[in-house]
Amino acid sequence: MTTHSPNSWEARAEAHALYGFTDLPSVRERGTVVVTHGEGPYIFDTQGRKYLDSNSGLWNMVAGFDHPGLAEAAKAQYDRFPGYHAFFGRMSDQTVALSERLIEVSPWDRGKVFYTNSGSEANDTLVKMLWFMGRAEGTPAKRKILTRGNAYHGVTAVSASMTAKPYNEVFGLPLDGFIHLTCPHYWREGMEGESEAEFTARLAAELEEVINREGADTIAGFFAEPVLGAGGVIPPPEGYFQAMQAVLRKHGIPLISDEVICGFGRTGNIWGCETYDFVPDAIISSKALTAGYFPMGAVMLGPEMADRLQAAIDPIEEFPHGFTASGHPVGCAVALKAIDVVLEEGLLEAVRAGAGRMEQGLRAIAAHPNIGELRGIGYMWALEAVREGKTPFEGDLSVSERIANTCTDHGLICRPLGQSVVLCPPFTLTDGQMDEMFEKLDAALRKVFAEIT
Ligand SMILES: *Cc1c(COP(=O)(O)O)cnc(C)c1O
Repeated sequence: MTTHSPNSWEARAEAHALYGFTDLPSVRERGTVVVTHGEGPYIFDTQGRKYLDSNSGLWNMVAGFDHPGLAEAAKAQYDRFPGYHAFFGRMSDQTVALSERLIEVSPWDRGKVFYTNSGSEANDTLVKMLWFMGRAEGTPAKRKILTRGNAYHGVTAVSASMTAKPYNEVFGLPLDGFIHLTCPHYWREGMEGESEAEFTARLAAELEEVINREGADTIAGFFAEPVLGAGGVIPPPEGYFQAMQAVLRKHGIPLISDEVICGFGRTGNIWGCETYDFVPDAIISSKALTAGYFPMGAVMLGPEMADRLQAAIDPIEEFPHGFTASGHPVGCAVALKAIDVVLEEGLLEAVRAGAGRMEQGLRAIAAHPNIGELRGIGYMWALEAVREGKTPFEGDLSVSERIANTCTDHGLICRPLGQSVVLCPPFTLTDGQMDEMFEKLDAALRKVFAEIT
């Protein structure tokens, strides 16, 4: 147990602040890291310690912590017009410009955008849109939502119901009508002797079975992250989205790509659906949308969904939904700049160029016998720790927390996730900083595995 002087940042944090998604025994033992500022991919705390944040904050700070152009875009917009809503037929010029830009960079030739403050609210909003459209189209039973095991879609009551994680049981979630299919993780879920193609075919058959069991006329949509992020960085098996989309199309069920993590470069293309070669009916965006410099989410509807929504709105002449800060002019100005930074200032190329180097460096580290799987793409990777083969370490060893805490001691932030550790650095990472990440991670892994094996 650490004790802090009563006026320390750590003591004040523990006295007054609540922790979300935090392993509290670790905090009690180690104290809170109170962060004051950042430089490139580094953050600094109140004790003057420096950490390489290999998680880009929470996947979102893709341009690092001190990008001058992004801060300037925010300041310029604060000076010009610091806040407005998008209700009652009014919206800011920045909101218009961003909507146009998002559709321009979308996989569609036309569509519509609706803004939220977060990814959770964007998923929630799209579920409400689907329910709204179902009722307007005379199919009010079309309400069920399909997602996959280990999916992460957010924390509001609806998006937490879509999130297929056991921790939501403490809330009595999921709500009825949220159905979780098998996680598309070949290494964990593939059966003895089953090829990757056979695994994909089995998952598509499961989808078909669930649709037939529940009735296609009761299912509103299928939501999927191109690569499961908070589920442990799980890329899909070969041919997965093609197989799933064929089944969905047959039954008239929309495919929604939750691109909150994958969107804007993380997989090496602007969208994860581009990387995996499918065109979804709608896209959920947040996180890197503003490079983390403003809280914002967006629901992007492709042509068909935009038309369906418009047809549902027409009879009542209004879509009764929106947030006070939907389409906030500062958020939109920052997002416009962030899209330029990723697409025009070389960040996408940086991920493409650095991905092979990142994989190679992590492969060398993953040769350790206690790493069961290295998986990922672009600038999102996970190493899964195992006792041996595919057998996990005993839960009470908290292996991934130990690794992450040891990394923190070495000045590297990485994220514990189940039995895995996640690395998803800013796209601005230099080769030298990448090497620093490898060295610190390798040292931490060796230390922890030596302690527990
Ligand atoms: C983070 C995340 C969300 C939720 O976004 P918040 O802004 O935290 O509400 C939704 N979907 C995915 C894929 C995410 O990674």
